[in-house]
Amino acid sequence: MKRARLSEAATGKDVQTPVNPVPGIWMIPGFGNTGAVETSEGIVLIDVPGYRWVGAMLQMLRERLGGPIHTVFLTHGHLDHALTVDVLFDEAQKKGFPPPRVVAHRNLVKRFNRYAMLHGYHDHINRIQFAVPAGVQAFPLPKRYPDITFDQSISLSVGGLDFHAFYALGETDDAVWLWVPDKKTVFAGDLVIMGMPNVGNPFKVQRYALEWAQGLEAIVAKEPEIVVPGHGNIIQGKASIREKLLTTSRALRHLHDEVVKRLNAGMWYEDILHEVDLPGDLKASEHLAPVYGCTRFVVHGILRQYSGWYDGNPSNLFPPKKIDIQKEILSVAGKEAVVKKAYALKEAGKTAMALQFVDLALAGDVSEEEAKKLHSLKGELLGIMGDNEPSYIARNIFYNGHNEEMKLAGED
Ligand SMILES: [Zn+2]
Repeated sequence: MKRARLSEAATGKDVQTPVNPVPGIWMIPGFGNTGAVETSEGIVLIDVPGYRWVGAMLQMLRERLGGPIHTVFLTHGHLDHALTVDVLFDEAQKKGFPPPRVVAHRNLVKRFNRYAMLHGYHDHINRIQFAVPAGVQAFPLPKRYPDITFDQSISLSVGGLDFHAFYALGETDDAVWLWVPDKKTVFAGDLVIMGMPNVGNPFKVQRYALEWAQGLEAIVAKEPEIVVPGHGNIIQGKASIREKLLTTSRALRHLHDEVVKRLNAGMWYEDILHEVDLPGDLKASEHLAPVYGCTRFVVHGILRQYSGWYDGNPSNLFPPKKIDIQKEILSVAGKEAVVKKAYALKEAGKTAMALQFVDLALAGDVSEEEAKKLHSLKGELLGIMGDNEPSYIARNIFYNGHNEEMKLAGED
């Protein structure tokens, strides 16, 4: 009996204590931070966490602040930032407060419509990306749409404080960051997260590396003293903010320009993917640690933004199905040799290559016993990949695969 491998961080146990860097400004941590600003007319909230965290968020908020929630800015439409505003409306009704108003970029409405259209797909992929256990809903649909939407920017005044929201294409096409000049504070949404920006998420629609860099530079230009990120710790002090945000924008610009240079030189997708990387000093930077996304994902994202799916080899324009190609190769190479090679590659520590040979072997006719052994080997290899993988998303993909293979091997 082998234990299913699970990533931390999706368990909700990482919710800690709210941070209050200056009077009137709060960051309530969770899987997705919530910002709060006190005004004489009520609280302005920035983002709401997912359903598994919103109860804890509201409790932490209410232990510290009374009065109505006046306005909610949504930095983008992702489920860890925008889906639980209905809980705030319920709370307002219970307490006899006027309902909050919800402000977001106009593309958030399109995003919510797309979520409804692709609900089954998003449930499927989010279960893998966030290691959502069976029985827990992986992708709840939004129950409330924003009351106010805008295109490039919007400025609102609440209780004597000005709030300026700016559009910045970055992680999403509905991304917004919020500037509160009186408090010298930026609420950055997922333009600022822990480690390498999550451009090129393997499951998701297009994200925007160069525009992300430009968004970070626009934030720095305001010279904020506090930045509340979408995920991770609050950043305080102009120098620390400059260092983190500009290191990140420099990395994104580097990867972007290196991909563009190679596309213009006539190189194709796979060669660019394997060639482009960060220079040593950026690679070593804690601000770019691949804790959630990773450099390889970013390169994929940039390539996908600017090129099509053709890989440059006409053999691959209308190829047979991969498994049919594998069957033909297997018929000449022989199953025994292929399986032997898979084990040898595993022993040599060439785990990714070993996986290719296990897949090749599995493409052929195998007995139930052989299949179980091969699935067990594949599960083991995927477990090794996951154990050595710093990126949360990549690790969850490997661990999910490990768990599925172990089921097929009858070992879960
Ligand atoms: Zn997020």
